[in-house]
Amino acid sequence: MPEMKDLFQSADWKKEKHAPVIESAATIQKGDAVSVSVSVGKEIPHPNTTPHHIRWIEVFFHPEGAKFPYQVARVEFSAHGESSEGPDTSTIYTKPSLSCSFTTEKPGTILASSYCNIHGLWQSHTKVEIS
Ligand code: FE
Repeated sequence: MPEMKDLFQSADWKKEKHAPVIESAATIQKGDAVSVSVSVGKEIPHPNTTPHHIRWIEVFFHPEGAKFPYQVARVEFSAHGESSEGPDTSTIYTKPSLSCSFTTEKPGTILASSYCNIHGLWQSHTKVEIS
């Protein structure tokens, strides 16, 4: 029986359309906020249709040496083209991207997870240093 952690897939986002793309500064000045953008499909677009789309993205920060990560943001993407006329009829599609910022006095790792309604859970991560 798989555990949750076994179900997260990861890959190079330049080659795999599902891998979340984290964009943030590699180093921040002490006292400055960390600005983060996360999207899915930056290099290879992911479908955004009623039957196939990205449902949500979450962002966590894991300070170096900490036992637990901290959830920084969670964004649900709610419009996938559906309407009373049927699937893919509304022309309204939420794009799977988010921007957020947070403060930290410790360096660490930003982790992002995302969920495709038919291809499951994906993750990626990037380091943040403080100068
Ligand atoms: Fe997919």
